[in-house]
Amino acid sequence: MKPLGELTVDAARGLRAIFTDIDDTLTTGGRLGPTAYGALWRLRDAGLLVVPVTGRPAGWADPIARLWPVAGVVAENGAVAFWLDEGGNMCRWYARPPKEMKADQAKLLELAFAIVRENPECRIAADQAFRISDVAVDFAEEVGPLGLEVAEEIRRRFVEAGATAKISSIHVNAWQGEHDKATACARFARERLGLDVSSDAAAYVGDSPNDEPLFARFALSFGVANVKRFAGRLAHEPTYLASRACGEGFAEVAERILALRAGPVVDAVLEAGGGAATRKPTSGGRTAGRGRASRSGSGRGRRSGRRR
Ligand SMILES: [Mg+2]
Repeated sequence: MKPLGELTVDAARGLRAIFTDIDDTLTTGGRLGPTAYGALWRLRDAGLLVVPVTGRPAGWADPIARLWPVAGVVAENGAVAFWLDEGGNMCRWYARPPKEMKADQAKLLELAFAIVRENPECRIAADQAFRISDVAVDFAEEVGPLGLEVAEEIRRRFVEAGATAKISSIHVNAWQGEHDKATACARFARERLGLDVSSDAAAYVGDSPNDEPLFARFALSFGVANVKRFAGRLAHEPTYLASRACGEGFAEVAERILALRAGPVVDAVLEAGGGAATRKPTSGGRTAGRGRASRSGSGRGRRSGRRR
């Protein structure tokens, strides 16, 4: 992982979309503070498309897509994506038919209850009721925090049962199906935003092992400082590391990108160590971002109701 200060002008100016984890990447101590939330608005106002990507429930995706300054949201580790189209209509897609996901979830939930009975210091996650695919065992949100060894043992139990399982900073999430955050981001980027996540146009920000497939898939990625907690447990690390943790780290990443994109060319080149002196600043602007997004994808999702 390279220091964030080594991010180049070219890399920052080539970006069109920033995908980001939520827990302990946008949030600090479980809350979305003004620093990180303000950074989301500044990125949007600079013409960048922001897409939160989370292991949190489908039930959380609806208010996030409606209320936050984002181009959409990928939730439940890639099981669903929600977004508002240009007319304010909520659109959704699912990695698998929802009825199938619910049926598999019911079976996995039996295993989750057995795990919690054997490990009474853990709990079924408080947000389980709002999920349609995942089961989530809490080891660090409303209990503990318990050690990563406990989380790893829970993950192993789910994997032995044939499920996919990932450790976030607070939960162990398990599900059936081939999807994960990376497959869903790639699909959302391609179908909705018209870009490839392995290109220079997209970046990812995260903090924990369930972000690892994204650190591997995105050409450009950032870790907030708390990702160092998982040192040695990540086969794929982010490209750059912020010096600050959680939401303040996300804001640090955002401000670095915005400074390189918006600043005078000569200053930015000097700050980045050279290499782009002949380039002109990109125009950016919210209209450009929206225009690109409007060219694809809105007809692929399910639509329901108009924004009030
Ligand atoms: Mg996280």
